[in-house]
Amino acid sequence: MKRFGAIEAGGTKFVCGVGTGPDDLVTTTILTTSPEETLSQVTAFFNGQSVAAIGIGSFGPVDLNPSSAKYGYITSTPKAGWRDTDLVGAVKRAIGVRVAFDTDVNAAALGEARWGAAIDARNCVYITVGTGIGGGSIIEGLLAHGAAHPEMGHMRLPHDLEADPFPGCCPFHGDCLEGLASGFAIQKRWGVTGDTLPLDHPAWKLESRYLALAVANLAFVLSPEVVILGGGVMKKDGLLDCITSEVSRLLNGYIPAPAIVAPALAGRSGVLGALVLAARMTCPNG
Ligand code: ZN
Repeated sequence: MKRFGAIEAGGTKFVCGVGTGPDDLVTTTILTTSPEETLSQVTAFFNGQSVAAIGIGSFGPVDLNPSSAKYGYITSTPKAGWRDTDLVGAVKRAIGVRVAFDTDVNAAALGEARWGAAIDARNCVYITVGTGIGGGSIIEGLLAHGAAHPEMGHMRLPHDLEADPFPGCCPFHGDCLEGLASGFAIQKRWGVTGDTLPLDHPAWKLESRYLALAVANLAFVLSPEVVILGGGVMKKDGLLDCITSEVSRLLNGYIPAPAIVAPALAGRSGVLGALVLAARMTCPNG
């Protein structure tokens, strides 16, 4: 059986793997420092491994347009040193195999659809709520891209300034979804990290409200059967249930609520999705 390489490229760490699926995947984690240092460690991991292709799911924004001069690049990221980094080119040059490329959240959606929480769904959305917020989707069995790629983390939400005077912390939009509900926003609003706040703290009522508004909007726009909520903030016990109730209230019986679930692949959604991206390079229906 062919083995493939997978890279989940994140803002704090790169998870690299070689294998064929969840039961056969050797991974290593490399800290995201400078592009030169991180990418030399990434390529060193794959050197000498026999892989048929490598899939990359990357933090972004990224250029996914194959006819663009910057295809395969991380583009306008605010992350220091990583703006205009040629990720695909660096891996291709060093390893000499074909490289598939997509967003980290599209890869995570793909991993969960293939082996995890959305295995029976033709339409699903994966949202990660961590330091930032991002989302990827599969519609009628296909990853959705569009003109560039969706940036679900930056959707605009109603913001009741009396209930929540925090202005938001997105450098581009202030009080977009990420500006109001990311882990970074929780920390800026309350002065402590979310994991130190008990579930009855007002932080979680706001958090549930914003994430439920986002899920309801996605349900209205994309009609997914399953919405997977992952990322560090979602590790808060009870938060998923609060969001589920609020989504149901917001939809108000107009459409059936999607199943709102945690990821099933235990932190490996992204790297496993990248593995599927790689496999598809050699067998498009695989
Ligand atoms: Zn924003």
